[in-house]
Amino acid sequence: MEKKTEYYDVVIIGGGSAGLTAGIYCGRARLKTLILEKALIGGLATYTNEIENYPGFPEGETGLGLMDLFHKQAKKFGVDFKLTDVKAVSFEGDEKVVETFRNKFIAKAVIVASGGKPRLTGAANEANYLYDKGISFCATCDAAANTDKTIMVIGSGDAAIEEGMFLTKFAKKVFVSVMHDEGKMDCNEIAKAQAMLNPKMEFIWNTVVERFEGDGHLDTVVLKNVRTGELLPQKVETCFLFIGYLPNTELFKGVLEMTRNGYLITNERMETNLPGVYAAGDVRDKFLKQVATAVGDGAIAGYAAEKYIAEEECYQKQILNDGNPSIVYFYNAADAASRDLLPVIESLEAEYDGKISVARVDVYKSDGVAKRVGISAFPCVAFINRNQLVKTLETNITPEAIRTIIQSR
Ligand SMILES: Cc1cc2nc3c(=O)[nH]c(=O)nc-3n(C[C@H](O)[C@H](O)[C@H](O)COP(=O)(O)OP(=O)(O)OC[C@H]3O[C@@H](n4cnc5c(N)ncnc54)[C@H](O)[C@@H]3O)c2cc1C
Repeated sequence: MEKKTEYYDVVIIGGGSAGLTAGIYCGRARLKTLILEKALIGGLATYTNEIENYPGFPEGETGLGLMDLFHKQAKKFGVDFKLTDVKAVSFEGDEKVVETFRNKFIAKAVIVASGGKPRLTGAANEANYLYDKGISFCATCDAAANTDKTIMVIGSGDAAIEEGMFLTKFAKKVFVSVMHDEGKMDCNEIAKAQAMLNPKMEFIWNTVVERFEGDGHLDTVVLKNVRTGELLPQKVETCFLFIGYLPNTELFKGVLEMTRNGYLITNERMETNLPGVYAAGDVRDKFLKQVATAVGDGAIAGYAAEKYIAEEECYQKQILNDGNPSIVYFYNAADAASRDLLPVIESLEAEYDGKISVARVDVYKSDGVAKRVGISAFPCVAFINRNQLVKTLETNITPEAIRTIIQSR
């Protein structure tokens, strides 16, 4: 089947908090932007019933509600959405290719915001009971179905304990399997104190899952005491796993630099090892994985992609100029000495109009083009011919000196 090709300025892989924020920035910069999302717009944040730590919502907000606002804002700025799974990427050249089952999207820049997926326990029979067969990763999605039921939560981090407490509003009993010694948990102290007082929660310390059992649907979780080896079967309707996440980066293996654990490596501009390819949100190797930090990453990635595209256009048109000669004035608009020379350059623009290209690049707005040409001191006049930097003038920038360079070509 021939894939349909579509062209975009920016393609964003993943429609969670990071991808949606990047979309808002790109759309608002009037870039033709596409977000590809394989599951639910809003990503992992939609799994949680209440987000209390996202600034601007003092009363808290549901994950779905918050993500719905992000989605609306991205649509308002003209971002296109397609609900489909990205199957392959090719990022080598200037044209970045992102392929789905039916389409081939060609973009000037790509932002990877593919987030993470819940980690599994690895216990026996786990694969037989995933999702609608009794093992869940989403309290918001499955709480109501467990009204008056006995359930189990695996884990003791923030997500496990906070989601576990939310589940006590529905279930009659919530067992919590914790691998640590009694009283030790990985969550914050406030959550821990509240959970310990919750009469519906019962902690089973020093345990991990040995196996899952049931006839078609999960009905028993067999825990193992890691100190004694004792097996502890527990009847439950549903088992919720909250034991961390793995990055969705299989597609980028051998393409983008990543840590040993598969998280993408970026600098503070969200740049990956490939020009024009950015990563944002939980998919990155970073200190804190939350909505607030995913939003920050998405904003930076969107802004960086916009700058990259503008710089690339400037580089192609004004620097390479189809191999024709050009004079480029690199200046810093915040610097008086740089600004004072602008009339000199403008007079040359008029003098050489139609004969030789004379351009200005303001490094205060963005210094990527100057870096690419190899210029780091400003102001500077560069003479470029046949795609090569021929000469630079950093002092004594006068019309005569510039004319001399042009004549010496
Ligand atoms: C239960 C739970 C509770 C949480 N509670 C809080 C909280 O209270 N406060 C807080 O700040 N954070 C909380 N978090 C963390 C927060 O949800 C994440 O930090 C945030 O969602 C990260 O956003 P993201 O956009 O980087 O990734 P994600 O939200 O993971 O989004 C990535 C998206 O990319 C999509 N995707 C992946 N691969 C592909 C592909 N090949 N093609 C197309 N699409 C793809 C995925 O389907 C997903 O929708 C919680 C998380 C969970 C699971």
